[in-house]
Amino acid sequence: MKILKELSRKEFRAKFGSEDQCLAFLAATKWGEKYKCRKCKNERFNAGKKKYNRRCSRCGYDESPTSHTLFHKIKFGIGNGFEMAYDIAMSKKGANSIWLAERFGVKQTTAWLFRRKVQEAMKSSEQFPLEDEVHVDEFETPQKGEQGRSKSEKKIRIVIALEYRNGKPGRGYAKVIDDYTAKSLKTIFDVHIDKEAKITTDGWTGCAPLKKTYPHLEQKLSDKGQNFKMLHIQIRNFKNWLRGVHSYCHESYINQYIQEYFYRFNRLNFRTTILEKLLNRMIAHTPTTYKSIKYNAT
Ligand SMILES: [Zn+2]
Repeated sequence: MKILKELSRKEFRAKFGSEDQCLAFLAATKWGEKYKCRKCKNERFNAGKKKYNRRCSRCGYDESPTSHTLFHKIKFGIGNGFEMAYDIAMSKKGANSIWLAERFGVKQTTAWLFRRKVQEAMKSSEQFPLEDEVHVDEFETPQKGEQGRSKSEKKIRIVIALEYRNGKPGRGYAKVIDDYTAKSLKTIFDVHIDKEAKITTDGWTGCAPLKKTYPHLEQKLSDKGQNFKMLHIQIRNFKNWLRGVHSYCHESYINQYIQEYFYRFNRLNFRTTILEKLLNRMIAHTPTTYKSIKYNAT
């Protein structure tokens, strides 16, 4: 069996153990050799107020390596920010904000907000649709706090698409949907499934109209999961994970948690580089505020 090497905490600390190392990484990733002043577009700079800051040689604008990134105005130290990102990217169960708050000695809201920022960076680029064989299925999960109530209560519906390449499980995506109409199902198809893929779905009527756009779509009765065995194992893993984080997560944020799950799931074979890739995305991402994250929940 192939053992996948991942970045150990020891290796992480050797690389990003000090504030200085983190700031150096931020500056190198953000500017590298291509500095350009944000105010006047000048390409020359001098040392700024603090180490790793860059100060425009023309207008004097002094920029820190964290500004204009998701690490902007981080209050609990850049080293802790990098390590929180490490925990979120690497932990098997997905580090929740209560656990992070305790571990880093910060308020739960602080850990929650930073975790949401990391999730922002984990959003799919929507550039690499699933190919080859794709199995699509759906499941329902009760709304927070409604377990055990009557079955007529509204449930959250999730559609999931998983890829099989050369008979092996590949990447996946999932999305919260309102219902099983073609219009709702189309949202995951259009964004995440290649038109030429050989798609197999359950017998839902909502899928029939999609055959126009996806000529290789085939419908098969699930037969209590017998026809989708591999898919159902993966759905079970995903549901267990979601149930775990869901108890800490408001319904409006479920899509973000789903994205986090699949960001990691789709990179299971790249665990040595997953953190650096994530940090790169966080550095390239414009800063977000508590307000924008709270109110832009979809
Ligand atoms: Zn300038």
